Amino acid sequence: MKKMKDFVVIGLGRFGKSIASQLYTMGNEVLAIDINQLETNQLEGKVSSAVTADATKYEIMHSLGVQNFDCAIVCIGEALESSLLVVEACKELNISYIIAKAKSEQHAKILKALGVDLVVSPEDFAGKKLASMLSTPGINELVELTEDYKIFEMALPDVWQDKTIR
Ligand code: ATP
Repeated sequence: MKKMKDFVVIGLGRFGKSIASQLYTMGNEVLAIDINQLETNQLEGKVSSAVTADATKYEIMHSLGVQNFDCAIVCIGEALESSLLVVEACKELNISYIIAKAKSEQHAKILKALGVDLVVSPEDFAGKKLASMLSTPGINELVELTEDYKIFEMALPDVWQDKTIR
């Protein structure tokens, strides 16, 4: 995956807010969109721009310049119809990389059929990660690259001190 710098995050529930503010803190350009002004207000100053709009509407998205972004992250889980229509609008706008959150296996299946590049299930991801960390004592952080390869952050055991990796 090429390094991306411009992100549009659509749907500012807990997941959307978290990923939008984190991407911005890490130095990326982030446009955050939600249909509910109460949600966009909470991101003022925490992203490049927070806009209240219905992201299912192609014309609105186009007028916001969404087509100029490298990556769209659709963070709408409960409102299935909105999730699918927003993905469709992003496809029509030719955004080269689309990530979408799925609330269920069926939701994930439809998102993939629509051509979403990466379907994520934050609850599933967090559950698996926590289970791995709990069943491997001493692990502070874990990144699963594939089923076979993982990166761990752990406290150095005393007996490893002053030893080379070899
Ligand atoms: P959470 O991340 O909190 O678990 P969720 O998966 O339950 O969220 P939803 O509640 O369905 O997801 O939607 C997340 C956000 O998406 C809400 O803040 C909602 O206002 C917003 N949203 C829903 N429809 C649209 C739309 N058409 N355009 C823009 N934002 C929308």
